[in-house]
Amino acid sequence: MRIYQLPSHIANQIAAGEVIERPASVVKELLENSLDAKATKISIEIGFGGLNQIKISDNGVGIFAEDLPLAILAHATSKITELQDLYNITSMGFRGEALASIASIARITITSRPQSQKHAMKLTVNELGHSLSPAARNVGTTIEVEDIFFNAPVRKKFLKTERGEFQLIEDVVKRFSLSAPMVSISLMHNGKLVLNLLASECDLSESLRVKKIFGTKFIENSIKIDEQKAGISLFGLLGDTKLQRSQRDKQWIYVNNRMVKDKLLAHAITQSYQDFIQPGRFPVCLLYLNIPTNDVDVNVHPTKHELRFQHGRIVHDFLVSAITSKLIRDDFSENIEHTLSEERGFEGTCEDKPSYYINSLKNANLTASIQDEWFILNASFAVIVLKSAPYLVNLVALSRQYYLDILKATSLPLLSRPLLVPVNYEINSKLEPFFLTFQQEFGNFGIQFDFIGENRILIRTIPVCLPFLDIKLLLSKLTLKVFTAFNLTSLLVDSLVFDANNITKDEQLALLEYLSKNELSSNFCVQMDDSRCLSIFKNV
Ligand code: ADP
Ligand code: MG
Repeated sequence: MRIYQLPSHIANQIAAGEVIERPASVVKELLENSLDAKATKISIEIGFGGLNQIKISDNGVGIFAEDLPLAILAHATSKITELQDLYNITSMGFRGEALASIASIARITITSRPQSQKHAMKLTVNELGHSLSPAARNVGTTIEVEDIFFNAPVRKKFLKTERGEFQLIEDVVKRFSLSAPMVSISLMHNGKLVLNLLASECDLSESLRVKKIFGTKFIENSIKIDEQKAGISLFGLLGDTKLQRSQRDKQWIYVNNRMVKDKLLAHAITQSYQDFIQPGRFPVCLLYLNIPTNDVDVNVHPTKHELRFQHGRIVHDFLVSAITSKLIRDDFSENIEHTLSEERGFEGTCEDKPSYYINSLKNANLTASIQDEWFILNASFAVIVLKSAPYLVNLVALSRQYYLDILKATSLPLLSRPLLVPVNYEINSKLEPFFLTFQQEFGNFGIQFDFIGENRILIRTIPVCLPFLDIKLLLSKLTLKVFTAFNLTSLLVDSLVFDANNITKDEQLALLEYLSKNELSSNFCVQMDDSRCLSIFKNV
């Protein structure tokens, strides 16, 4: 691992920008360097929230004495050498920028010894320049960063208190630790041991480390996921519905072991859970996504938190499908078993269902009477026998997709249907001018209304094709943003209130036809084995 300065044609291809915003960013960069150096032991010592001191020592491969001055130069790295490497990154670092950035805003000392070097060398960098001197150290590297932003007082002003900055550091260390279970990690603050994580050799999901970081409650209330498809794999733990949170802070996702905060992945998680948790709440999960390195571009953002997937749609859909079917299969069917045993509506009517179900299994084919093949479980879920196999179907998600496809295939204007009783609705006064301007556009989506007073409208029609539309819900979801690119398609679908208990025979037919035309094992439909199916009915 020798260090070279990248030629300008490669350096220019690297996502530019500031990586060091605060002490926690220094810690993140140094930890990534230790991991790239194949360290198995890392100790972190922090002084005064990192504002005074950050010292990270590892037992990695070390840096050769001649390379020490190079390490702090801009675009100097041992991790890539040619342009092509940028499209196939297997290391955490590749920009050759971190140490240079740190050296420009703090005093830095690097002491390092590779295996083949007799003794360690120490590079000291400060405002006077650098100096190299012999030092005592085992194989590995220690990097000490002092007085962060000593030469940038304005930036220092934007930092939080000692406690606040340390919390951010602790969070970085915790997140990092779950990407490197084989590395033992210790964290000290002002001389006090805060975190001591031993290297774990067993399955991460069972390790003490996850328990220490996510808590025992998470382990007890989560289900394991381990799925793969077409070279992509996903494993980890999915928190169940008891663990809902008011923010997204406990959704940790790693892509090829890199901790990321990626919008596409966050969206996939939200979508997967949308029928399981309350709107506005966030699930807890710890997920590891592995994907061929040439299918993901990490050179998008200087801090490497964001990614660009070559086939984003495939990754997104794989995640949604894997998570949803897991949630339906394990978590939800348990819930269903529980709810069904308590639900009065099932008493009496379903006594003969287990045997009936088995008969259905034997005799069923798609042309059989629909009623014989449907078991509505609650407002959202049904078991449907398709081609002799039982499927647990999320009817809410299925109907949403069904109506979305209909809307996409229908050209505007949508046919409207008069409401028997027009709906009187008070609009947000800030939005009133937009209602006036866009009255005709609403009409295009089958929604006709009149102004009947200050901030009040009377809705007279809704689109024919959306029988379950809750028009008030739709109007309550309107924001200024909606009016900037007026398209109500997804809002319409999000405002459907579908209750499986009230489904008509025609609707069943339409959904069944739709289901059989689409891939059966999808986001809203999962095949069950006999035991799972029987367990759903066992309490009925
Ligand atoms: P990058 O990690 O993007 O290559 P950095 O500025 O973080 O850039 O580090 C520059 C180089 O210094 C690395 O490529 C690596 O060769 C060397 N280096 C940094 N930290 C360590 C370490 N802890 N152990 C061994 N080598 C290191
Ligand atoms: Mg680095």
